[in-house]
Amino acid sequence: MPTLRRQGRDRVISRLFDAIKDIAASYDIKAIGIGCPGPLDSKKGIVLSPPNLPGWRNVRIKEMVGKRFRVPAAVENDANCAGLGESVAGAGKRASSMVLLTLGTGIGSAIVLEGRLWTGKGGFASELGHVSVDINGPRCECGNRGCIELYASATGVVRRMKKASWSKAALTAEDVFRNAGRGDKKARKIVDETAYYLGCALANIVNALDPELIVLAGGMTRAGRGFVRKAEQIMRKRALRESSRAVKVTVSKLGDDAGLIGAAWRAKEL
Ligand SMILES: [Zn+2]
Repeated sequence: MPTLRRQGRDRVISRLFDAIKDIAASYDIKAIGIGCPGPLDSKKGIVLSPPNLPGWRNVRIKEMVGKRFRVPAAVENDANCAGLGESVAGAGKRASSMVLLTLGTGIGSAIVLEGRLWTGKGGFASELGHVSVDINGPRCECGNRGCIELYASATGVVRRMKKASWSKAALTAEDVFRNAGRGDKKARKIVDETAYYLGCALANIVNALDPELIVLAGGMTRAGRGFVRKAEQIMRKRALRESSRAVKVTVSKLGDDAGLIGAAWRAKEL
């Protein structure tokens, strides 16, 4: 069901409770896993102040859900949940190490090493959307410049397409990919550039982690297999030879279900 975040925090939480109540009517729930946009304190289960959830500030969601349903609850960053889901039940099922990048409004990412989510010391790891591919590039909200999120997210694609075509018309990243497929030269250039920037970011990631598998998710990866292949080629050209030869690149198998499965898995690990 959609979040309907504009209805405000209390409405979202009460609908969340209703949804869990519906499930609890048919199943014996042992634990509840919650995937939520960051930043958050996953250990304490506190949603700090996610830009995607206006009005949410220091919400103790783990405690609220756990108390209400009298079961243990786990809270994890939604991109991490998607990575864990793909790792245990999707594209990464047979891989011991995996990196997931979801190209959406922003770029969400997850790192799974030896079958476990790498969350870092403070739980803020794997913000791979903020790998810089242009040190003098446009300023990112994170404080850095030229982050890959500014180029290879759906928002970044639309922004660059509008700039290139001097257009103010409503546009989605899917439109840009569709127009590129139909032979629109400007759209084609934007898609090729996007693959190029993404490939450069992947090369940095491969050099840092030498993962067995990279999984790309989000609407743009479904829009064109050629786009993913091109990013893969750039990565193989730019990353160090040994790791770039061995790493596999594929697209998400579970789509939107990855986050649900990963959140449930996080609860199972409690
Ligand atoms: Zn950034």
